[in-house]
Amino acid sequence: MKLVIATTNPHKLDEIRAILDGSGLELVGLDAWPDLPEPPEDGERFEDNAAQKARFVHEATGLPVLADDSGLEVDALGGAPGVRSRRFTPEATAASNNARLLHRLDGVDDRRARFRCALALVSSSGQALAAGACEGRIALAPSGEGGFGYDPLFLPDEAPGRSMAQLSAQEKNRISHRGRALAHLPGMLRELGLSTPGPER
Ligand code: IMP
Repeated sequence: MKLVIATTNPHKLDEIRAILDGSGLELVGLDAWPDLPEPPEDGERFEDNAAQKARFVHEATGLPVLADDSGLEVDALGGAPGVRSRRFTPEATAASNNARLLHRLDGVDDRRARFRCALALVSSSGQALAAGACEGRIALAPSGEGGFGYDPLFLPDEAPGRSMAQLSAQEKNRISHRGRALAHLPGMLRELGLSTPGPER
């Protein structure tokens, strides 16, 4: 079965492809529709944005669509950058966003944070939602070359002494918000009566 992944973020797409490898699903990126405008995402919650993106792309393609909306919540910043994680700074680059995060947390002891991921699956039979989270803390300085976005500053509780960017792709996907949310995909497909091909033989 063809499943459109409604993201223009190549890092997210790579992670989703790796996590769903062997699922038997034929994953199609948005590059297959080069004329499609950027899907809207102006909600105040991750799940609203994921649903908005998935609905928009489903209406344009007629195919089942999976959208991921994700971001970082920092307790000492009242949950910011949250749904505005990508656009935390006007430049909207990982370097500028990370620099701003470190600046905002300068001298702050409570560095508790979590990544959240909301998934929305939309097909002609309706919508299914799922979520995943990964708890951790914000480091005092970036480290590591892997991953993307805030990974060099995020210290997952489940990987003591290492940042998310210092984990292998497999290690990240096993504990990440995205990996956890995607573990619900078989149930979401069932909920919408879509075929689950199961592992490839
Ligand atoms: P979205 O495209 O609106 O969902 O924005 C997601 C933003 O959240 C990204 O641009 C990153 O800044 C951040 N983000 C989401 N997932 C991750 C992750 O796995 N690692 C690091 N940053 C992430």
